[in-house]
Amino acid sequence: MRVLFGSSEVYPLAKTGGLADVSAALPKALTALGVETHLLLPGYPRAIQAASNKTVEIELADFMGAGPFRLISARTPDSALPIWLVDCPSLFRRPGGPYQDQDGQDWPDNARRFALFSHVAARLSRGQLFGGWHADVVHANDWPTGLVPAILAEIPGQRPATIFTIHNLAYQGLFTAAIYSQLGLSDEAFNPEGLEFHGKISFLKAGIRYSDQLTTVSPTYAREILTSEYGCGLQGLLQQRAQDLVGILNGADYEIWDPSRDVYLPNNFSLANMAGKRACKTALQDEFGVKADLEAPLIVFVSRITDQKMADVVAAALPEVIGDGALCVLLGDGERHLEEQFEAAALRYPGRIAFRVGYEEPLAHRLVAGGDILLHPARYEPCGLTQLYAMRYGTLPVVRGTGGLRDTVVDANDDTLNRGTATGFMFEGASSEDMVRCVGRALALYRQPVAWRKVQRHAMAQNFGWEDSARRYRALYHSLAPGAVATPQPVVADPILEHVAG
Ligand code: ADP
Repeated sequence: MRVLFGSSEVYPLAKTGGLADVSAALPKALTALGVETHLLLPGYPRAIQAASNKTVEIELADFMGAGPFRLISARTPDSALPIWLVDCPSLFRRPGGPYQDQDGQDWPDNARRFALFSHVAARLSRGQLFGGWHADVVHANDWPTGLVPAILAEIPGQRPATIFTIHNLAYQGLFTAAIYSQLGLSDEAFNPEGLEFHGKISFLKAGIRYSDQLTTVSPTYAREILTSEYGCGLQGLLQQRAQDLVGILNGADYEIWDPSRDVYLPNNFSLANMAGKRACKTALQDEFGVKADLEAPLIVFVSRITDQKMADVVAAALPEVIGDGALCVLLGDGERHLEEQFEAAALRYPGRIAFRVGYEEPLAHRLVAGGDILLHPARYEPCGLTQLYAMRYGTLPVVRGTGGLRDTVVDANDDTLNRGTATGFMFEGASSEDMVRCVGRALALYRQPVAWRKVQRHAMAQNFGWEDSARRYRALYHSLAPGAVATPQPVVADPILEHVAG
């Protein structure tokens, strides 16, 4: 079984969120299960720089007016997974992030960038770029790879099976119809039965409409996206395809997120020896300049600062969140006006609230390790990874009961506390009062050290490793490509292939 795993983010080469973690950990788990998994990532400068064992495999001709480009074959730095990088200088060689420039503005040519990436994925998977290599299954992820199933569906002849995973339905890759002719797609596909969405091109809809199999990242989110509340306007199409849609819970990579060997922590710790966690808390209080008080409950927030993550509610509720003697340390970046509210709260409550704007991987580890409580609300949450990490670090999550948060956290109530199954705290509504009340319950339990320790130990013992979920993906691959033999099909008059040299 050979899988081409296409993603716009792969940790540690490129990351803006959970997609990067999943695109590194799932291929690693699949490889361990004997699935030959090959990654494909745009050749962002930092990704090319950080990848190891680089060789230029193939030079490709101008396509979609993007100029000549090449495919670099490499390995991921940590786990040595095979990866191809699409090194197209005019589209990917620039400072900034995968989707936005340094000022947070979307790149104006995102449609062309990820269309080219998707065309390369499709050709590669059919064995058209390297004589010897083809995929049995192409696994595409989120809108940047949404065109891959559409392109493959249009090509006559044998093709690999396609799986499309929705990591976040709200990011749709919507573009003006005026550029459709630049994307190398057939005219027929641009209609409401195809990839058109209210007069625009929707990369996400293309993935949903044309893939053989759909997955999303938790069972609850798989049900939620069939409703108008969570369906982002695509619930109708998703309902049509409900038979092909399955929710497979994301996992945590415990080689990276394990407090007993996390290289980013000042002190390591484990269930058997929690002294290091207290040292992490002290170090975090020091690093952020909040009160050096080991007994005060320390609430941490590590998140994109967006509407999805209820950052507006968090910002407004901060005075109440710390009302009961708690301290609060926040790290994140996102919408500027919300960052400003966080900054204002930190100024108003020096020593009690501290905020760092930014995206810093090592710091995220230190917050997750040093906190007592992770504040992790969301209006919707496809899966959520941070709460999984926090539980392993003995930092009890406060979450809203939606999507993967509902599937992974067991609320501490009388019943679950008695049975010893509680792992965190969950609220239902999305109001400030709902959240603050839930934080209050967490703080009350914190003041009962014996009960707290019991929940903490149970949370740390949870296993959200990738093994089970990777097995489920492998089973899906096999159901889609039972014989797992695809033969490369040459395509006539394909501009991307005309000048292949190498
Ligand atoms: P999402 O993908 O919606 O942002 P997830 O919970 O699935 O949410 O994944 C978030 C990932 O991004 C986690 O690995 C988390 O540690 C990381 N992260 C979020 N914000 C920051 C930040 N400001 N700095 C560093 N890492 C962050």
